[in-house]
Amino acid sequence: MGIPYHKRTHKCGELRGSDVGEEVRLAGWVHTSRDHGGLVFADLRDHTGLVQLRFNVDHVPGVHEQAQTLHNEDVIVIEGTVVSRGDMVNPKLPTGEVEVEVAAMDVLSRADPLPLQVNDEFEANEDLQLRHRYLHLRRPEMQAIFRLRHRVGRAIREYFHEHGFVEIETPFLTKSTPEGARDYLVPSRIRAGAFYALPQSPQIFKQLLMIAGFDRYAQIVRCFRDEDLRADRQPEFTQLDMEMAFVEREDVMAAVEGCVQRIFKEALDIEIELPLPIMPEQEAMERFGIDRPDTRFGMELQDVTELVREVDFGAFREAIEGGGVVKCLVAKNAEALTRKILDGLAEEVRGIDAAGLPYVKVKSGDDGVTFATGIAKFVEPICGQLCEQVGAEPGDVIFFMPGTFRDVCKYLHYVRTRLATILDVIPKGRWDTLWVVDFPLLDWDEEEERWVSTHHPFTAPLDEDLAMLDSDPGKVRAKAYDLVLNGMEMAGGSIRIHRREVQQKVFSLLGIGPEEAQEKFEFLLEALRFGAPPHGGIAFGFDRWAMMLAGVESLRDVIAFPKTTRAICPLTDAPGTVSQAQLDELSLSVKPPPNKDV
Ligand code: ASP
Repeated sequence: MGIPYHKRTHKCGELRGSDVGEEVRLAGWVHTSRDHGGLVFADLRDHTGLVQLRFNVDHVPGVHEQAQTLHNEDVIVIEGTVVSRGDMVNPKLPTGEVEVEVAAMDVLSRADPLPLQVNDEFEANEDLQLRHRYLHLRRPEMQAIFRLRHRVGRAIREYFHEHGFVEIETPFLTKSTPEGARDYLVPSRIRAGAFYALPQSPQIFKQLLMIAGFDRYAQIVRCFRDEDLRADRQPEFTQLDMEMAFVEREDVMAAVEGCVQRIFKEALDIEIELPLPIMPEQEAMERFGIDRPDTRFGMELQDVTELVREVDFGAFREAIEGGGVVKCLVAKNAEALTRKILDGLAEEVRGIDAAGLPYVKVKSGDDGVTFATGIAKFVEPICGQLCEQVGAEPGDVIFFMPGTFRDVCKYLHYVRTRLATILDVIPKGRWDTLWVVDFPLLDWDEEEERWVSTHHPFTAPLDEDLAMLDSDPGKVRAKAYDLVLNGMEMAGGSIRIHRREVQQKVFSLLGIGPEEAQEKFEFLLEALRFGAPPHGGIAFGFDRWAMMLAGVESLRDVIAFPKTTRAICPLTDAPGTVSQAQLDELSLSVKPPPNKDV
């Protein structure tokens, strides 16, 4: 009995002026209610939006009385008539021209006093939000994010389907994969003492799918990495993972670009122009100090090593004599950079291990420009020449950084990014997408004193650099490509090694001896013996795309049930302990934690 809530005539957010006079049946949550004596108003909410309900004591007294007992988030079903709000239109609501004069109501479920309000924007502390995530997710802005995420996912799937890709699921219970983060392990019951690893990505499986002849594969897939977490990391996250056979770099990049264009159109109704710009990694480092440059604004790094060679400033001399460089960047119209801000910035840079942040302010002098404050007295002799070379004018501040190329890149990238915020130079609503290519295949790990893969060990070297694998491995460039959006790495991939001997050579350069290679990657090495097509692919950080497109700051806002920075789920309280019987079944015993507070 009661009102048939399963037969709603409309959704709350759908009603418009043209519906006036309609008899409707709606169900949803009480977003707010206001008791004005003879009149009670409530906003009823479902996933489509809000509509105002009106309970008039003169109309149906029993229902009015019932309405007086409503609490926020009670679940109700109502029947009533759509009426015009006359000149009381609420321009903030799409349904604002109308309200529903309620004739009958059933309360389907009551809500206790709420630990977290749904109807305001107050940000409760994160633990509370995650503990009662279902309440937080009821908020219209959260609903909008997940619908956007869904639309983007659907657009991606449609795109790949239209282009001949097959979606194939790859295992979660598998062996360690090579992305280099810590694995999540799952103990095996049947093979006591052995562990599965949850995949950090489906990398090897998608390569095997190419060897298996599927030609094109794409999957929206969960990946797992046990890393220290930050706002843009989660222990489990979603990738759009794809792979193509018989391709070179430009083919994978073209396929991805089409997908990126589709994503922007779907999510933001923006047309992205193709092809996307391509920048070699070396150029990105030279100009921006980072391999994922934010090209929405200038302030590029400029090399002034030659110009300052004769300058009598200790830090410059030391860097140059040590084979390093001196680079600078020019902050234009930087009057806003007060002494306090400059000191603060220098302090921050010291915090990431730089020795300091030498700078000068450019002023107008008697005949042109002159320098003031900072290290002015040291660089004044080359003032005119320097300003001309780096394009500095009165009102600008020049920041210098002496050191090794790597350090200078790191510190000036930091300074550039901070200045962009301080001086507010990033144009709003701009989306700068580009490819970064020609990464070094290998990176020298100073601490471990060995080569490590810049991407992963299956990345193919550029054909023209192959010979250097023996003579000068550090110079070998990779057939890799990263997609960068507004300074964020949004996707990364490569053409893979498809010849066993090259793969073995790269393994040995990485210090993965034949035995270890055999143990870890035997199945791949073996597969490479039975006819492997040339192939390559890429993976997109799907959550990161959702985050960027939704304009939110944290990955947690685009994952329905995320973990905290301590990798805990406050909703379910995972991870949890298990019973002795479960441990016994798995042949495991647990040591007491090293520190009880952790
Ligand atoms: N599997 C790689 C990653 O997750 C991406 C790729 O090379 O396709 O980073």
